[in-house]
Amino acid sequence: MTAWRVRAVLLPDGSEVEERWVSAGGWSEVPVGDAQDLPGRLALGGLVDAHSHVSFASGHAGPIALDRHGAEANLDRYAEDGVVLIRDAGGDPRIVLALPTVSPGRPRMVAAGRHLAPHGMYFEAVHLPAEPGEVVDVALAELAAGATWVKLVADFPPAAARAASPMAVAEPTYPLDVVADLVSAVHAAGGRIAAHVTTPVVTDLVRIGIDSVEHGPALDEETITAMAVMGTAWTPTLCALLSSSPDAPVERRRLVAERRERLSQLLPIAVRQGVPVLTGSDVVGSVPREVALLVRCGLEPADALRAATTSATRFLRLGAAVAPAAVVTYNADPRDDPEVLTQPAAVVIDGVRVR
Ligand SMILES: [Zn+2]
Repeated sequence: MTAWRVRAVLLPDGSEVEERWVSAGGWSEVPVGDAQDLPGRLALGGLVDAHSHVSFASGHAGPIALDRHGAEANLDRYAEDGVVLIRDAGGDPRIVLALPTVSPGRPRMVAAGRHLAPHGMYFEAVHLPAEPGEVVDVALAELAAGATWVKLVADFPPAAARAASPMAVAEPTYPLDVVADLVSAVHAAGGRIAAHVTTPVVTDLVRIGIDSVEHGPALDEETITAMAVMGTAWTPTLCALLSSSPDAPVERRRLVAERRERLSQLLPIAVRQGVPVLTGSDVVGSVPREVALLVRCGLEPADALRAATTSATRFLRLGAAVAPAAVVTYNADPRDDPEVLTQPAAVVIDGVRVR
């Protein structure tokens, strides 16, 4: 079994150089013979992508479906970035639930199944609809097939509105009593619920007991306080929420500017109150960029790094995800400049060096 010697400041909290050995069996403070030296003078146990779509790629008008090879190529790309644990936040269950949860050299995975939404209420190219009368059964079947999370699309612009305008407004997908039944059935089966939500319906969802808010640009301070009490996490997916090209319509640019201001108020409050804030790349971003955007939205660099590491592993562990024995090293301190995260010096996952 190959072991690696790390001489580095251990992130996110360390301040002095320490010596550790890491192999597929785990971390050790005791020297391991024949260990190979890893470059890099700062190290962390790997990044966590808490909102990824392994079976999707970014298309012109929303996500497009990938086959298994495409999904595996995504995993390899994430590994290059230093991502060692992924929560797949919705995809093609025939692909994501068939991928191994542990595969040395690739990020470990916990997965939801499909995006739960009725017909016409999610991107058609990648959607397997579930009507209100069947949504609980669909979720339970996917949990039985290996999903540990359930992805609820709680609001979305209807198909007709999307066809008419790129700025179509989201509407609730299921009645709240259906959502409440879904949440209790999923919890009773040992699963957890991640909810895509962009409107103020987020307040009802938190009260009903979802486990994580995905996106959440309409959160308010009161709801964040409720999340802190309930232990609800927040994956803001800033790469997606704040994306806007210079040639985007003026309405889009105005929306992004408003969101940036609102999120810059709320994210530091959420962290202060103890809400687990998590990094998620969605289809368009990356964990290193997400950390940089969290800092730009007012988080202390160490807190932004925790969102991508310790906060995420602690939260996902409740959902049975186990982070691998992994190490990612850097030549400079990402707490001084998050850009450093885009250039790892070395990445080792479950004993396999991938970079
Ligand atoms: Zn997503």
